Amino acid sequence: MMSSALLKLFRSTGSYLLAFSRHSIFRPHSVRGISVPKTDHERAAAARDLLKAAFGERVITADDPTSGPMVALTTPWSTTCHLPSAAYFQPVSAAEVSTALSIITKTQCKFAVRATGHNPNPGFSSTREDGVIIDLQLLNDKSFDPETGIASVGAGNTWGEVYTWLEGKGRSVMGGRYEEIGVAGFVLGGGMPGFVNLRGMGCDQVRGFEVVLGDGHTVHCSAEVRPDLYRALKGGGSNFGVVTTFYLQTYPLLKTQYTVSLYKPDDYANIIEASVATHKQMETDDQAAYFTNVHRDFVAIGQLYADTPEEEPKVFEPFRKLESMMAPVVPKTDGTLSTLAQAIGHRPPKGKRTIFTLSTKVDKDLYLAIHQIWQDVTATLPPSSEGTDLHYTIQPVTASAARAGRDNGTGGNALGLQEVSQNWCVFTLEYPRDGDDVVHQAAMDRLYEQVKAAAEERGLLLDFVCPTFADKRQDVLRGFGEENVGLIKDVAAKYDGEGVFQKLQYGGFLVRDL
Ligand SMILES: Cc1cc2nc3c(=O)[nH]c(=O)nc-3n(C[C@H](O)[C@H](O)[C@H](O)COP(=O)(O)OP(=O)(O)OC[C@H]3O[C@@H](n4cnc5c(N)ncnc54)[C@H](O)[C@@H]3O)c2cc1C
Repeated sequence: MMSSALLKLFRSTGSYLLAFSRHSIFRPHSVRGISVPKTDHERAAAARDLLKAAFGERVITADDPTSGPMVALTTPWSTTCHLPSAAYFQPVSAAEVSTALSIITKTQCKFAVRATGHNPNPGFSSTREDGVIIDLQLLNDKSFDPETGIASVGAGNTWGEVYTWLEGKGRSVMGGRYEEIGVAGFVLGGGMPGFVNLRGMGCDQVRGFEVVLGDGHTVHCSAEVRPDLYRALKGGGSNFGVVTTFYLQTYPLLKTQYTVSLYKPDDYANIIEASVATHKQMETDDQAAYFTNVHRDFVAIGQLYADTPEEEPKVFEPFRKLESMMAPVVPKTDGTLSTLAQAIGHRPPKGKRTIFTLSTKVDKDLYLAIHQIWQDVTATLPPSSEGTDLHYTIQPVTASAARAGRDNGTGGNALGLQEVSQNWCVFTLEYPRDGDDVVHQAAMDRLYEQVKAAAEERGLLLDFVCPTFADKRQDVLRGFGEENVGLIKDVAAKYDGEGVFQKLQYGGFLVRDL
């Protein structure tokens, strides 16, 4: 039986009956009499014109006189994704997403779905003139059911908006560490919250999804209704449909304590030792989290705690013993998830960004080897004074994170996390100049190969690749393991029989690439 909590929520969104049937009352609006143009550019132009005819000013194009929205839409987080799409459509309801998908399939136009555009992989939430974007930022409804503790959150919301709104009601939800990133891309990519060891991944907090499928029908899923789709969406990304609403489990207001300090980079050996020692202690303290973010000119260490103890948490003792602190950038603060996200979030200048991630077991010698490889590659790049910054971040995950997702009574996620202590190390290259693309990507590729080999040689490389930090060429879905790959393939075939999200979607970690 479906839980009464979700039943109530699905009913309140107007589709109670649909929770039990394959088809929704939101019938797709048909678009008849269209002959499919030959080239991608012509198809995009045809889709743009139909969208304009249907939705008027909520379809923004390059020739639009209102340049403000256009500028915002063409400049997502990484300038590698500043691509000129044929049109940006901003739906205000699931029914409008359905109509847009109907237009897209009739015209066979390429498309991308965007929540906030923070993913730096070109083509994931951006297209060139040969495609259109469904931009979800106006789907920003939020409602809270005090009886069930479940928050219904539209796919256009950011974590900052959700945290602030929920905290006004004395509630918290485990989401991203940066206030401007989208709930949608984060959750669909698994999503690593600030306190991942406490309650698992971002996707583990979801109790239900509202999804518009490729055939235009709107359906709901949960642990009881379409459990296959529900589980696949928890990490399986944009393979199945456009998620329009997330039903999130909330908890009583979470108090947090945090501090971020800068350390001298030449003390890296002690910093790595302290990071490993702290990680080991975290295995018995799920309230603790940290990050060690290594740059050429400094190392930033953030110590985060899911409570406000009077005494310094014992788990961070190894960091307190370091003698190379240069300056505290965020002094010890008692706050909440929203103040934490504001404090550690940064708004760097617009720039090009490319990232990748590798998951390894926790080992001091491996970390030292990775640091040496990073130093060697960094030495081949322009100096940081010219705006080039290749940095890496140690992100500790304990066995509890995998257990929390598996044991929360919702059937688990599609990520295939191993129940071991692990580091989701993220490498980010930020640089200002277009002309550096080829050389810089080659440096990142070298770094990737060498770090991977170092972990493999020692038998410490894990298959899992966290989707939210991955480069578009990484084998993210296979990293979830055979069973989950099978689930994702089956669910994509079952709920998107025509393969709309495989054939027409611009990019993403998609089944078509397996
Ligand atoms: C400063 C910064 C801090 C970050 N911190 C964290 C962190 O703490 N933890 C973490 O795990 N990640 C973090 N990330 C990574 C971030 O979670 C990913 O880049 C994520 O993809 C961003 O989601 P979005 O909704 O903002 O992005 P978008 O770029 O809009 O979307 C990302 C992907 O999701 C798809 N998508 C978006 N919405 C939908 C939808 N409704 N239905 C179907 N598909 C959809 C898009 O098509 C695209 O493939 C951070 C990124 C930045 C830039």
